[in-house]
Amino acid sequence: MELILNILCALIPLIYLVIFVAKENRRKGKKHYIYGLVVAAVLFLILFVIRLIALTFISNESTPDNTTTTTTSTTTTVEPTKESTTTKKSNYERLTTPAGGETLGTTPKGYEVKKIDGLYYVDGYLIANKTYSLPKSYNPGKLKAEVETAANKMFADAQKEVNNNMWAQSGFRSYSTQESIYNRYVSRDGQKEADTYSARPGYSEHQSGLAFDVCATGKSCIDNGFDNTKEAKWLSENAYKYGFILRYPKGSDKVAQTGYMYESWHFRYVGEDLAEKLYNNGDWITMEEYFGLTSSYDEKPIGE
Ligand SMILES: [Zn+2]
Repeated sequence: MELILNILCALIPLIYLVIFVAKENRRKGKKHYIYGLVVAAVLFLILFVIRLIALTFISNESTPDNTTTTTTSTTTTVEPTKESTTTKKSNYERLTTPAGGETLGTTPKGYEVKKIDGLYYVDGYLIANKTYSLPKSYNPGKLKAEVETAANKMFADAQKEVNNNMWAQSGFRSYSTQESIYNRYVSRDGQKEADTYSARPGYSEHQSGLAFDVCATGKSCIDNGFDNTKEAKWLSENAYKYGFILRYPKGSDKVAQTGYMYESWHFRYVGEDLAEKLYNNGDWITMEEYFGLTSSYDEKPIGE
């Protein structure tokens, strides 16, 4: 636009001058030439002013354009940040294993078993089942921060995808809480029955601060009524992306391995690498099978 104005600005007086000269050539007379030059100069000045005004208008109009450019460039700057945040958020890393402790041995699957501050670790993962207990004094007080963060993200995404609210109804449980829960079940159903679904005090994964039970609005909470709901299905298919495993999967072989009945609501954090392996494209592998561990009150930990 500016170029067109510049050309017009210079061309119109020049054309006028050429026509004037051509006309006046016949008449001959210096005064006429001066008159022609003055008119051409005035014409040039008028056009130049018009050009300036026009350019001011154009630059005003293009201001929003500039803003858009700025916005676009801002968006461009924001995008990589978003990407890097997403990458970071989707990276639910395994928890660090405390230093020290003693090595007890190796599982039949070749994983090292360590005892650190009374807790058992297999290949660096804390293990709590019917063979591997937690000390009575072990009390993190709540879910571990990394577990809570991953769970919140998982529930937020679940909300978008299944359009229902889910939450960790039962997260950390102290030794004494587990003791009263277990005793209540024993007095209701007898010990043999209670042992199929409830951990004895000191053997519950809930005491580790790594596991929780999920409830969903309007759905049966922490019982078999939760099975086959769209919420349970979503969790089973997506929890591994957030570093969680369905800790007590379905199937008699799996029930035998974990020592617990199928619990569609109980999830445990292991970090996304192991979670994806255990997810196994929907055919969940138990921690016991994967690491080669027993889960029985009759069995002793490897090396003890
Ligand atoms: Zn549970």
